[in-house]
Amino acid sequence: MDQYTASFSVHTHIIRLRRIKIKMLHHVKALEQRSNKERVHYVKELLTKRGIQYECQPFRLRLLKGENIIVTDFCKSNSKNQLLITAHTNKSFSSPGANDNASGVSVLLKIAERLKNDKLFDNTSIKIIFFDHEDGLAFVDGSTYYAKNTDLSLVNFVFNLDMVGMGNSIAISPEIQTNGNSYTSQLLKILSHRKLEHYTYNLPPVFVEDHIPFMKRGVPSVSLNLFPKKDMEYLKKIVTSSALAMAKDYLSLRFNQTSYPMITMRHRHSDTDISEFISEDSLELCESIVMDLIHYHIKTLSNKGDVIL
Ligand SMILES: [Zn+2]
Repeated sequence: MDQYTASFSVHTHIIRLRRIKIKMLHHVKALEQRSNKERVHYVKELLTKRGIQYECQPFRLRLLKGENIIVTDFCKSNSKNQLLITAHTNKSFSSPGANDNASGVSVLLKIAERLKNDKLFDNTSIKIIFFDHEDGLAFVDGSTYYAKNTDLSLVNFVFNLDMVGMGNSIAISPEIQTNGNSYTSQLLKILSHRKLEHYTYNLPPVFVEDHIPFMKRGVPSVSLNLFPKKDMEYLKKIVTSSALAMAKDYLSLRFNQTSYPMITMRHRHSDTDISEFISEDSLELCESIVMDLIHYHIKTLSNKGDVIL
């Protein structure tokens, strides 16, 4: 390679990296001012632009109409051993919903693009799913509808992303058991290997996330959030406190949100959940954890003879 070619290729590489670097935050900024319907439209438009195949799953549960988006490009409908990677598109009422959950959506979009661009990842039993109506007036409606209307015996593991745009401490719920599923064990290995501060805990019942409808049906599933270090310290304190302290804490979040100790929860569902607080580094960290788990999944399939690499 001559000097010109080398410097050209380095230059191209840097441009590419820059393009990739701004990409996830770009999605967050694009999503934060949109309504729930427009957010679903944004995701569909982007997938179509990138030539990524998907199916829409419109639903009506209780009062609300919604639409899940299921990326089908990397998974045949009857594939066994599916890995579902999920995030909710909707925001809560008038909140811009940058961290909750344009952040998770932006990571899923990036993962879908990476899988599409990498030919190794054809037919690998991976489904990327954008759920509608996790919160607001709903109560995990999109994921509940999907879980009720899908053959869950084909699913190995559900990995949900919610609020992944701030900090680099990893919280995973529910609490991972040492004798648990191979995917959760692998997830802990990934986090230890990357020397990331992490904590697994059971979500207090007043909160819901999209892994819960799967968990209730016995499918191994977790939800991942990112928190700044101080938030994580507070979270640990609260979830190990007494029921009374937990109830008091919930009331202070509910009625005195602006002075709540966790910055992520201070913004959650409020008009200050904006992209200015979202870090590309956090989004990239989340993406890298998901990609590590995808590599494990593909290795597992290949050992079972379900996929040829
Ligand atoms: Zn959420």
